[in-house]
Amino acid sequence: MLRKKRMLQYLKTHGIILRRDHASDIGERISAFTRKRGRINFIAHGMRRPTSKLSSAILPGNIVYLTFAKQKAWNLTGAKVDLSSALAVHDLQIMRLFSAVREIVDMLLPEDETDEKLYDTLETYVRFMAKDSHTYEAKKYASIRFCTLLLKHLGHLPDATICQINGEKINSSEKALWRKDAGFICSKCAHAENSKEILSLSPLVLNKGVKPQKISDIDVKHWEKVIADIYARVAERELLSFSK
Ligand SMILES: [Zn+2]
Repeated sequence: MLRKKRMLQYLKTHGIILRRDHASDIGERISAFTRKRGRINFIAHGMRRPTSKLSSAILPGNIVYLTFAKQKAWNLTGAKVDLSSALAVHDLQIMRLFSAVREIVDMLLPEDETDEKLYDTLETYVRFMAKDSHTYEAKKYASIRFCTLLLKHLGHLPDATICQINGEKINSSEKALWRKDAGFICSKCAHAENSKEILSLSPLVLNKGVKPQKISDIDVKHWEKVIADIYARVAERELLSFSK
């Protein structure tokens, strides 16, 4: 009787490289968010050679067309760069923003869960970040907006329409207020507390389907803080590089 061969699985998909670490003897440890398979981890071999084509393709921030063959684990068999944002982004401040966003995606997205809608949103963001014509301010806004969407999408962003202290509705025309340990609160509760920990935020970032609009520097700073707070709570670690 013939022995059954273990079935080989193949995967061809676009993916965004989130992280690449040296993994001593075995190769490079890669985390990528792929369109067809969600976030996957794999080891890439043979990338240490200076002539390795894979090595120059598998850089964090790149959008790459990836091919895999899977037996026990995903084996990378090819990588063709679609967008090299690793090369396009050279401003240090922009790089910091961009790597903070990749860090959040890498830490918070579960493995092997396909989410094409989120993939497309991230790809749009990556393409935006790689364009020279956009200003630093626009890129900062896009980063905050993407993180807010991501946190909301994954269910980590507390409801900004209900006060987390007294349960009352927060008027959409007023500023949203944020207290690190509570979440969004109404202005009445904020007045009662009179604490320095409370940030007031433009709710613009939370609006659905609006084009990026300019928000003030203070709003940008406060939103960064909110994102860092939520990230710290969910990932149980500080965000390395969101703001300087
Ligand atoms: Zn309240």
